[in-house]
Amino acid sequence: MRYGPFIERFWSRVEKNGPVPEYRPELGPCWIWIGTLRNGYGRINIGGKKLVTAHRWLWEHKRGLVPKGFELDHLCRVRRCVNLLHLEVVTARTNWLRGSSPTLKNLSKTHCQKGHPYDEANTYYPPDRGGRARACKECARERGRQYKARHHERVIQAHRDYRKKQAQLRAHKS
Ligand SMILES: [Zn+2]
Ligand SMILES: [Zn+2]
Repeated sequence: MRYGPFIERFWSRVEKNGPVPEYRPELGPCWIWIGTLRNGYGRINIGGKKLVTAHRWLWEHKRGLVPKGFELDHLCRVRRCVNLLHLEVVTARTNWLRGSSPTLKNLSKTHCQKGHPYDEANTYYPPDRGGRARACKECARERGRQYKARHHERVIQAHRDYRKKQAQLRAHKS
């Protein structure tokens, strides 16, 4: 790989006048990767069919290696952004909790699907989901009430069936 042309190739895939992140306007515009994407992140071939993540490559090229156990987190939440000012080295877990992991992007939401707040009082971490995924207490209470109501209904129905059967038996005997 010849170095010069690679850098040129890299910057030819960057649009520096991207949008300013809505919730962090002080960061300034995102540098949008307009090349290949995977999971929303920019990808570039560094030769020998080896693909690397664009923002990470730029970071390591300019600032040095990201240590093991650490990841780059997009402060702007724009995965395809390669603006180094929008990136921060964090532990893998922090990044995960912030919700930039695709499977857990729900963590960045402030409310559950039904609109209950994910605040301290209303949030719990079900152990059957690894103790890390958030769940809404209010929704859990609601499910509990529905379960109880259904259960109650089933019990009543069972009693009805039982009485009916007993009545049938009695009618049969007499
Ligand atoms: Zn950005
Ligand atoms: Zn809820």
